[in-house]
Amino acid sequence: MTKITPGMMTPLAFKKGLIMGIANDSSIAWGCACAFRRFGAELAVTYLNEKSKNYVEPLAERLGSELLLPCDVREEGQLEAVFDAIKNRWGELDFVLHSIAFAPREDLHGRLTDSSRAGFMEAMDISCHSLIRTARMAEPLMKNGGSIFAMSYYGAEKVVEHYNLMGPVKAALEASVRYMAYELGGKGIRVHAISPGPIRTRAASGIDRFDELMENAASRAPIQRQVSIEDVGQATALLATDAAKLMTGDTLYIDGGLHVVG
Ligand code: NAD
Repeated sequence: MTKITPGMMTPLAFKKGLIMGIANDSSIAWGCACAFRRFGAELAVTYLNEKSKNYVEPLAERLGSELLLPCDVREEGQLEAVFDAIKNRWGELDFVLHSIAFAPREDLHGRLTDSSRAGFMEAMDISCHSLIRTARMAEPLMKNGGSIFAMSYYGAEKVVEHYNLMGPVKAALEASVRYMAYELGGKGIRVHAISPGPIRTRAASGIDRFDELMENAASRAPIQRQVSIEDVGQATALLATDAAKLMTGDTLYIDGGLHVVG
């Protein structure tokens, strides 16, 4: 599937990217990784822990990845070790996909007003500040510029029922993207938030009444269909190409236009 053959459109040939956030073949990060690979990029892949390695390793093999590394962003030193390995193997990096989010179940299922301090901080640390640390470590490796992508959601902007504390966490993520786009732009490093419509994934299964949200989205979106991880992957891979080199700091919706309907 991901073998590179002559005549293929490979606008990311010779580019090197880091993919964070594959849990299984339903993950948005997997849809993105396949698209980056189809465009010719070489990929390093991370997995959360030994249990998830069982699912991620065969996928990394399908991508032909030469670097498969553990990375739980809560663990001191693991993110640093990922970037050390990339530095030693490649010496440079062209793009990073950060497709990671977490909130403790009890906090995610209650009102934001009732969220615990510890739960809010954990969600913010894993889902937002880890992007900031990732960008900081990517910066010296992006010697010829690069692009950094984070996954957001419309609940950052408007109240979406049952999205609860992830709303402000994603709002912080989108604001962080804008500030880092400003700070890193002089080095040719572009930073974007990608905002997909609802997709059935493991993380999404933690959100109350998610099936309803999905059905509702597909029926209300101008392009009346559900979003797939392939849709998100293709659009994100396009943004990593030189064709998009003057785009940065945006939140880009891949939601069939649902955000214009509100
Ligand atoms: P997923 O469960 O496949 O991916 C979530 C990933 O986060 C997993 O790979 C998991 O291992 C990783 N993760 C969680 N805690 C981590 C930690 N401490 N350290 C490192 N990694 C950790 O689900 P997904 O839906 O593909 O989620 C990917 C991103 O897309 C998330 O940011 C999510 O908020 C966002 N998103 C999802 C949807 C949707 O409808 N599924 C819509 C918009 C945005």
